[in-house]
Amino acid sequence: MTTLFSKIIAREIPADIVYEDEHCLAFRDINPQAPVHVLLIPKREIPKLADAAADDQALLGHLLLAAGRVARQLGVGEAFRLVVNNGAGAGQTVFHLHLHLLAGRPMHWPPG
Ligand code: 5GP
Repeated sequence: MTTLFSKIIAREIPADIVYEDEHCLAFRDINPQAPVHVLLIPKREIPKLADAAADDQALLGHLLLAAGRVARQLGVGEAFRLVVNNGAGAGQTVFHLHLHLLAGRPMHWPPG
């Protein structure tokens, strides 16, 4: 199912894009929960992490490497948190797989 994130990839709706490559796109969250709050999404439409298949292995690794790269680019490479909400019960609201990259404030544990 196509979501608004696919429309951001297609530039049909605007977003503050901070990184893009062949496989993924990163843009600032519209409702930031930290001074740096970026969403990193694969261009391939995977609704949630649990829907990823064996042939998504390289893509998932690519996303993690890209997250580190984006964090460094934004000056928070030494302290950031990645969050993946998988399913409505875990707080997922947009069903296009995404990594939340959060940084710029103290991060508490457990995350809540
Ligand atoms: P989820 O709750 O699915 O893990 O995260 C979805 C995220 O997408 C939320 O943090 C929400 O603020 C963000 N979001 C929802 N709609 C938009 C939008 O139109 N633009 C941007 N940049 N972020 C959005």
